[in-house]
Amino acid sequence: MITIVILLASLLSFVAPQNPPSGSASQRMDTSRWNDYEAPFRLAGPIYYVGTTELAAFLVSTPQGHILIDGGMPSTAPVIEKSIRELGFKPEDIRILLTTQAHFDHVGSHAHFKKLSGARAEAMRGDETLLRDGGKSDYLFGTRADYHFPRVPVDRVLKDGDLVSLGGVRITARHTPGHTPGSTTYLMTVPDNGRDYQVVFAASTTVNPGTRLVTNPSYPGILEDFRKTFSVLESLKPDIFLSGHTSFFDLRRKRAAMTKDKPAEAFVDPDGYRKLIAERKKEFEALAGGK
Ligand SMILES: [Zn+2]
Repeated sequence: MITIVILLASLLSFVAPQNPPSGSASQRMDTSRWNDYEAPFRLAGPIYYVGTTELAAFLVSTPQGHILIDGGMPSTAPVIEKSIRELGFKPEDIRILLTTQAHFDHVGSHAHFKKLSGARAEAMRGDETLLRDGGKSDYLFGTRADYHFPRVPVDRVLKDGDLVSLGGVRITARHTPGHTPGSTTYLMTVPDNGRDYQVVFAASTTVNPGTRLVTNPSYPGILEDFRKTFSVLESLKPDIFLSGHTSFFDLRRKRAAMTKDKPAEAFVDPDGYRKLIAERKKEFEALAGGK
């Protein structure tokens, strides 16, 4: 049974490379291309893409400053900073830092941007500890120095359903734990070109290899947490879904389909969202072994 789980886990990491692929101390993941430049662009309403080809980062612009959702690895900071400036914005004007998951490849630049802008870091309960200790209490990667990141003082601890607001923008934070104990999905309604779009920044549901769901669980309640997360994700009906890794929402294909007059339409993909969540749930239940 253990062998099967490990086999499935490695298979899953192979088909879903959007997360640290290994929990084994001997393996180092190849992140050499993760900072490759992706030209920044306006995605929908006040949402701008400022991430790399692999690691997503979103700037939500408001008249009172910006919100940054996810920020890549520590070494991604200069790439994101350059992209924000290219759009004509200032990274110094970031007021709030958010993340979908407190892993090194999504909160790595938080400390940098906090220092640069004085932004407040808001994090879901469960992930605030990870931000504060730089990933050292991570249930899977805590002992791996290559997964640690600069510590981030957390200014506000969010709970499920809390609202993050700035300059007229309202973002609802949903607690969708499992991948990390405080993994978060953000929801917002975005006006663009005469239409309102429901946008979801979805948390990862990847079970990283080495995670124990049933026997001697990686943390108490992890199995139930993942299941709760799937039911939350299933209940959402986004027009546009985004996530921490570009492959998850197919940035390349959707970006190529963008038109000048209605750019946001290329990202409308409610069926893609439903399919993805269904697939991920199936994979998860296979790993959970029907327990
Ligand atoms: Zn992760």
